Amino acid sequence: MRRSLLTLALLTVLLVPLTSLIDAQGSPFHTGDVLAAWTPGSLDIHQLVTGRGNAAFLMFPDGTTLLIDAGDVAGAGANGRTAAQFIARYVRHMAAGDARLDYAVITHFHGDHIGAISGTEPESLHGHYRLRGITEVTEELPVARLIDRGWPDYSYLPPQADATFTNYRRFVTDNDAAKRITMTQAEAGSTTQVRQVRHPDPQLPFEVRIVAVNDRVWTGQENETKVRFPPLDKIPDRADWPDENMCSIALRIRYGPFSYFTGGDMPGYPVPGAAAWHDEETDVARAIGRTDVHVVNHHGSLEDENPFWLATLRSRVMIVPAWSATHPSPDVLKRMLSRRIYPEPRDIFVTLFREATQAATGPRAADVASAHGHIVVRVEPGGTRYWVLVLDDMTESYRITSVHGPYRAG
Ligand SMILES: [Zn+2]
Repeated sequence: MRRSLLTLALLTVLLVPLTSLIDAQGSPFHTGDVLAAWTPGSLDIHQLVTGRGNAAFLMFPDGTTLLIDAGDVAGAGANGRTAAQFIARYVRHMAAGDARLDYAVITHFHGDHIGAISGTEPESLHGHYRLRGITEVTEELPVARLIDRGWPDYSYLPPQADATFTNYRRFVTDNDAAKRITMTQAEAGSTTQVRQVRHPDPQLPFEVRIVAVNDRVWTGQENETKVRFPPLDKIPDRADWPDENMCSIALRIRYGPFSYFTGGDMPGYPVPGAAAWHDEETDVARAIGRTDVHVVNHHGSLEDENPFWLATLRSRVMIVPAWSATHPSPDVLKRMLSRRIYPEPRDIFVTLFREATQAATGPRAADVASAHGHIVVRVEPGGTRYWVLVLDDMTESYRITSVHGPYRAG
């Protein structure tokens, strides 16, 4: 027993020298341990691996919970579960004893963010809609408030009336009518739509701002916003219209000196010939400035992460919410790693960097800090320092597979 422990210790020292170094400095986190529970004052941000779409779970310093997206597209999921079953089990574990969602934010209405409906999914007990993605999460866990880009009339750039959105619309209509969920349309510039609601301390330097949604973007000045797209009737060619991705809700969270950004599938690198306003990253970068941690836009697809965006945010940590074999695109990864765009060090964490994608990317694929696993950003009380902890995604052990940090915010 003692010998095997010794071997294990030796292996740990040999295989994870960086972690051991940090451990020697008194890290509270150790590879192999189950992640210690959130404690009051900390901000936890979990980017989950379901293999079926986007989902992030957050716990604010006062314990308020937020789910950003609950995507589920067809395909094999984690441990044979649907994305929603996996998300619910994860939230129940992390929010031990009080697993309710104070907020859910749906960035936009695509299946990898809300759950794709084929017509074979089970039906809800609460209304005339089927269960997949966000509708299924809501059946598993109580959701108090839901924020999307269109409630109640979904009139700006009406989402495609396919089975997925039609089902979603029935879900929100039924749950609003039954007063189970308070529905809100996201408003650019707002710092009051998402806030601490469990044990709020107004003195605490914590803020969630809606930076952009639909055709509006925050300017960075007070709560001022501007219109970023021309009126739709002034865009003669329908192919040039903004699309669903471009209407994504984007959020910036600040806690003391710490800052974090997540913006759904907003683009920043227009296809050749497209109008300049198809680049949304530049306006958002001007508004938010330097940002410690950002979730890479549109899963790292090829029309994202432009040089101005990267050079303005100068993020120390980037999280790629990858689920498909096209995530991240090799040229996007090249830009993200470029020391010409900004010279400071950066660590890139990918939720699921598939082997085929790594092979197509070449040697640069090895430059990421983590190629798979749930990515947890744990911000210490006050927001001065944070850690990134990668959790095992092969089982539901919630064990730490690598420790990164501490990073100094600001
Ligand atoms: Zn997406």
